[in-house]
Amino acid sequence: MTGTIFNIQRFSLFDGPGVRTVVFFKGCPLRCKWCHNPEGLSSARQIMYNPERCIGCGACIEACSLACHTVKEDLHAFDRSRCISCGKCAEVCYSRALTTVGQELTVDEIMETVLKDKAIYLESGGGLTLSGGEPLLQGEFAIVLLKSAKSHGLHTCVETSGFGKTEALAEMARHVDLFLFDYKITGDEAHRELCGVPQTPILDHLALLDSMGATIILRCPLLPFNRNSEHAEGIARTVLSHSCIREVQVMPYHRLGIAKSEQLGIIPTYEGEVEDRALVENFVREVWERCDKKVNVIIG
Ligand code: SF4
Ligand code: SF4
Repeated sequence: MTGTIFNIQRFSLFDGPGVRTVVFFKGCPLRCKWCHNPEGLSSARQIMYNPERCIGCGACIEACSLACHTVKEDLHAFDRSRCISCGKCAEVCYSRALTTVGQELTVDEIMETVLKDKAIYLESGGGLTLSGGEPLLQGEFAIVLLKSAKSHGLHTCVETSGFGKTEALAEMARHVDLFLFDYKITGDEAHRELCGVPQTPILDHLALLDSMGATIILRCPLLPFNRNSEHAEGIARTVLSHSCIREVQVMPYHRLGIAKSEQLGIIPTYEGEVEDRALVENFVREVWERCDKKVNVIIG
């Protein structure tokens, strides 16, 4: 069994407690307009092209049998319309202007990397985090990977939108110490408009995890669309009605996804400015007060 993975990031400090290795699953059923990991959207392998790294050597021209690359007067052009993402051009692009995103890996191959830092996890209270994309979309593989991590005594986190198969989530929960669970925008209609799917099935899954005794950090992206009292109240209502939520992390919008979208040949769906710090802090305070100050609300 293999999973499609687009990155394995060691020494992460932001995706659960302690020092962690984060495994990014490729493929996501949501289409959030502000997505900061666009390389996780498609389940298929893709080619990224960063023109700033291109030295115009022309090695990609030789490698591609479909004539997707041309170089004229040291200027490289990439025609994606014929590309089948075979990755041959990326293999010969030594400046890494072209890279392949997404590879098929077995649990053993991933665990070989993850276990390199076992001593650091034990020292720092860290472990393994599954992120994406959406790990639930490859639920069967994610569960086997989590089981393997637990068999090695590792702390496990899953970062999820909460949208996916109920059975996979329930089985996953048996092997997860902490969920980083997204709460993106309040209400089915707004959620469907900004993320492509309704919110109700996600909240049903949150209730399921609550009933199973899971531990959850609620992660709330913050943008001009949802920086309002209705949403602050929605977060607080959710916190107060689920005993599993131990913290809220408000995640201000950043622009890192824009360059990555362009390198994938995707037109970014949102290109706003970074949120003003004072507005973020006001929102955090409002959520905290509406939660009756019962849980920590922090900027993530
Ligand atoms: S192989 Fe890489 S560096 Fe060379 S021309 Fe192609 S994209 Fe540019
Ligand atoms: S990935 Fe394959 S088909 Fe696409 S440009 Fe590179 S060599 Fe050509």
